[in-house]
Order: sequence, then structure tokens, then C-alpha cells
Amino acid sequence: MFVDLARISLKAGDGGNGAVSFHREKYVAAGGPDGGDGGKGGDVVFVADNHLSTLADFRYKRKYAAQNGANGGTKRCTGRNAGDLVIKVPRGTLVKELKTGRLIADISGDGPAVIARGGRGGWGNARFASPTRQIPRFAKPGKPGDKLEVQLELKLLADVGLLGFPNVGKSSLLARVSEAKPEIANYHFTTLTPVLGVVRVEEGSSFVMADIPGLIEGASEGVGLGHAFLRHVDRCRLLVHIVDVSGIEGRDPREDFDIINAELKAYNPELAGRPMVVAAGKSDLATKEQLDSFKAFIEDTAGLPFFVISPATGQGLKELAAAVWSMLRELPPIAEYEPEPAAMPAVDPQGYTVRGGDGFYEVDAPWLNPVMNSVNPNDYESLQYFQRVLIQSGIIARLEEMGVEEGDTVSILGFEFDYVK
Ligand code: GDP
Ligand code: MG
Repeated sequence: MFVDLARISLKAGDGGNGAVSFHREKYVAAGGPDGGDGGKGGDVVFVADNHLSTLADFRYKRKYAAQNGANGGTKRCTGRNAGDLVIKVPRGTLVKELKTGRLIADISGDGPAVIARGGRGGWGNARFASPTRQIPRFAKPGKPGDKLEVQLELKLLADVGLLGFPNVGKSSLLARVSEAKPEIANYHFTTLTPVLGVVRVEEGSSFVMADIPGLIEGASEGVGLGHAFLRHVDRCRLLVHIVDVSGIEGRDPREDFDIINAELKAYNPELAGRPMVVAAGKSDLATKEQLDSFKAFIEDTAGLPFFVISPATGQGLKELAAAVWSMLRELPPIAEYEPEPAAMPAVDPQGYTVRGGDGFYEVDAPWLNPVMNSVNPNDYESLQYFQRVLIQSGIIARLEEMGVEEGDTVSILGFEFDYVK
């Protein structure tokens, strides 16, 4: 069964707790604190796998959790960092936050994408020793890992999408020009699964064509089957619209053409303007008058390139493939979607306290907790975002008022960094 939507829940690993312990050795009195830090919790990471073509696996397994970091030990032993949990999805899968619909990542490229971040380990008591505090009897707990529900949405990566009413010969065309083996039969809706095929035009030139299950009137409103599949047209750089001009099913080709275009437009107005070529399918069954009249309509009225093909006899297929190839060369590459930034948390301008002086400042602001958990100190964007939150909340201004200087240590909820102006 073709599954292109799934909802799953993710839980990244919690950070391990820091340890409280003191050095013990025979004949050595009053050993210092030596509790190690906790290890980092595992991330939940997504990667594209070319061997997968549906999200069916996610129907059966819906909960995914990475392991927690190990607790810190005695003798300054740091707890082990947990490994990442890697989830493989078909290339072209969008990962969206279920609650907001925000796009977190488009798994179309090759790199792994971290979707849920593991918590940092807590500091062991060895870290808290200072000249004035020689016996720290406390350590920090690990931070919790991200927990979120996501919607997975497969949007196929194809250069060309085949569109048309059921039974016009879309699957037959794909089977004829590529190695793909879509189901072909003389009844409507044989195609219940989009099928991708690679069309080789000449040595070294090829493109990917998708057989999209037949659209019918009302598809964009959810009537019949077509609607569920329109999503797979979204990324196509060019559309090949196949129309049966023979009228053997008792339909009018112009009307069919208009209905499909109206469906596209209703689903996504931008799609209606996507480059399109029109092919008269089953031309072996059509009369010359039927072909000529439809050709005039498409070329003169609709202003689109027109081809006469017959997947049954092979007529016109090479010409169509060559024309499509030369158009594709002028078009931008297949779209990858930009992740959308998470909304800023509600900044609470009163909800913080800043204490300290003389080079060390401590900020406490409970509402900042979720932000702290999501900040990645190695990522520029992430740090910028963190800085914006600090500025907006007034924390930076407060620090400046208190006389913070470049290079001073600022501790926010236990996370320490050097102040940079
Ligand atoms: P789809 O629903 O658009 O994918 O259409 P199919 O490719 O499954 O074809 C529907 C029916 O039309 C099948 O019985 C095919 O054998 C037949 N067919 C497809 N192309 C041609 C053609 O060029 N000429 C004729 N005579 N029949 C065709
Ligand atoms: Mg079909």
C-alpha cells in the first residue's frame, strides 16, 4: 500500500545527571569533589534513503526515542554520550511540527537532519568547586531531550509530472519510455500509487517522470482519488498533460483539459502557471479532424506546445521526450523547501533576575528554559536567535546596566558563556 502521510512521535535522549562524589584515598584526608558530568542524550536524526518509496513503515511503528546520556561517575568520569537515533525516510519527505504545521526539514538532500535534539549532560560537582566553595554537595541534572510530534509528508522528487483523466494512457506512456512498470489496465484508477521512471533521452541525458494517479473533477475538494496525489506534483518542474482526443469514452477533450487545469488551480494556484506541454494520447484511435482541431485549440487558444502520441504504437514518444528534455534544461532545478524558523517563545520582560558583578553574572529566567534546550552552541543561526531573545527580553540591557564587560562570564540557567559585545 502506498502511504505518503504519517504521524509519529519523537523523543530525543535526556542528558545524564552530573555526579556528586569526593575523592577518597587511603591516608589522604578530605579529598576534593570529583563527580563527573553526565553524557549528552542522543539526537533523533533523519536521512534520505533511496531504497524507500513510501512511509508505510511508520504506520506500524509510531514512537521513536533516542537513548539517554549516562550519568556522570566518580573520579571525574564523564557519562557516555548516547548515540543518535537515525530514522530513514524516502527522499523528498517533509518533516513538519504537528502542532503548528511548521516545516522543520525537507529530507531531499544527502546530509542528516537533526529533528529532535538530545539534552546536555548536567555538570558534576567537580565543576562547582571554587576557592570559597570547597565542598559542593550538589551537581546538575541533565537537560531533557526534545519531545515532539511530527507529521511526515512525502512529496516526490520528479522533473516531470504526468497529468490527465484516468485511462488516457499515462501509465502506458511511462512504461513505454522508462524502465518503470506501472500498472496498466482498461479501467479507471488502476494507478493508486505514483510511480517514478527514469527517461533516457540520449547518452547521459535523462529525467525523472512521475505517473500521478488520474485526476478527476472535484479532486481538489477531495472527491475521488486525485486529491491525495496532487501533492506529488508540487515539485515537478514541468507537467505533461495527456488528453484522450478520440472521444471513445464519450468525453470532450477541451472540457477534460479545462477541468484538469481548474483542479490544479484550485489545489495550488502556482501550479496552474507551471510549464506545461500537452499530448494527445491514444492518437491511433483518433481521426485527423479530431487531432487537428485539438491541436489548434491548444496551440492557438491555450498557447502551449502540443504533441501527438500513442503509447500503444510508439508514435511521437521520442519527439515528446526530446522536447521535454530541452525545456527542462532551461528550467530551475527541483525545489527543496526551506525550513521555517520556530516561533519565538513569549518573551517575558519582567520574568528574569540578574545577579552578580565583578566578572560573573547569573541570569535566572524560567521561561527561557525551552530556548536554552534548543540552542545549539555550534550553530551560528541558533546563537543569533538566542541573542535576539536575550535582547528582546531586556536581559542584555540589564547586564549592561550592571556593568558587564567583554569577556565576563554570564551564566544563564547553568549554561556559561563569555560575554561578547
Ligand atoms: P492511465 O489511467 O492514464 O494510466 O491509462 P493506462 O496507461 O492505464 O491506459 C488505459 C487503457 O488505455 C489501457 O487499456 C491501455 O492499454 C490503453 N491505451 C493506452 N495508450 C493507448 C494508445 O496509445 N492507444 C490505444 N489504442 N490504447 C491505449
Ligand atoms: Mg495509470
